[in-house]
Amino acid sequence: MNRRNFFTFLSTSAAAYAIPTRLPFEELKHFNCSNLFEEKKSAEVRLHGSEFEAYKQLSSKIKSVKSIVGYGHFNLIGFDEMLRVGKNYSKVGTFTPQEIALYESIFYESASKYGFYGEKVLANVTDEIKKSDTVKIPRTGHYLFKTDSVDMYEKIRKEVGHNIILTSGVRGITKQMDLFLTKIVRSYGNISIASRSLAPAGYSFHGIGDFDVGKVGFGYKNFTSEFAHTDEFKRLIDTGYVNIRYTKDNPFGVRYEPWHIKVT
Ligand SMILES: [Zn+2]
Repeated sequence: MNRRNFFTFLSTSAAAYAIPTRLPFEELKHFNCSNLFEEKKSAEVRLHGSEFEAYKQLSSKIKSVKSIVGYGHFNLIGFDEMLRVGKNYSKVGTFTPQEIALYESIFYESASKYGFYGEKVLANVTDEIKKSDTVKIPRTGHYLFKTDSVDMYEKIRKEVGHNIILTSGVRGITKQMDLFLTKIVRSYGNISIASRSLAPAGYSFHGIGDFDVGKVGFGYKNFTSEFAHTDEFKRLIDTGYVNIRYTKDNPFGVRYEPWHIKVT
C-alpha cells in the first residue's frame, strides 16, 4: 500500500469509528509503515503535500492541548490525557481517527529509517510519567525525576553556582511529540534534519531522567554550541562527574549537545 492509499484508507475508514478512538496498533501492522515516508538515495526523508499538511495539522492540535493544560503540566501528560483534553475542550476538538493513527504511526516508526540511531526508551505510545515520581523545580516551569535527577541537579547548582539553571527536564511522550513535530515543520518536512537536533517521541532520555541546563540570561544560545564556550560549561565539566549524552561525533546521528546532562 503506498502512502496515498494509506491516507485514503484512513479517511474512508473513519466512518467505522463512530466514537473516535485509537486505531489499534494491531491494525496499523497491516500497513507497511515504511511507505509512510519517502526514502531517497541520500537517506534524507522528506514529507510532501497532503502528508506534510497532516503533520502540520497534528502539530497545531497538540499545541492547542498545551494552551489548555499549561506549559509546565504539558511536560508530563500522556497520550490518553491528551485525547481527553481534546474531547473535553471544544477549543482543541476531539482527535480524529486519522490524527490518532498518524500520531501512532510516527511513534512506532523505526527512527533509524530517517537517520536517528538512538535506542527507544519508552516502548508504548500510552506510557505515562507519574507526577508523583517527579519534583517541580521552582522558577523553571520544568520537572525532574525524584532522587537521581534531582540529586544531580542540586549537586551541579551547589558546585557550579546558581548561574546555571534547568532549561528542560522531564518530557513525556506528548511533549516530545510536540517538539519533534515542530522541528519537522520548521525543517520544511525534512524528518531526517529534524531528528538530528531532536530525538523522536519515545527515544528521548528526557523521558527517563536526563535534563538540560543553561546559563541564566543566555536565552536560545543555551541550545547552541556557544554554551560549550561559557564558564558555566567549563565548570560543569571540571566537576568530573557530569557526562554529556550527545558528544561531538556521537554514533546516534544527533548534533553535539553540550547542555544535555546524562543521568540514566
Ligand atoms: Zn536534552
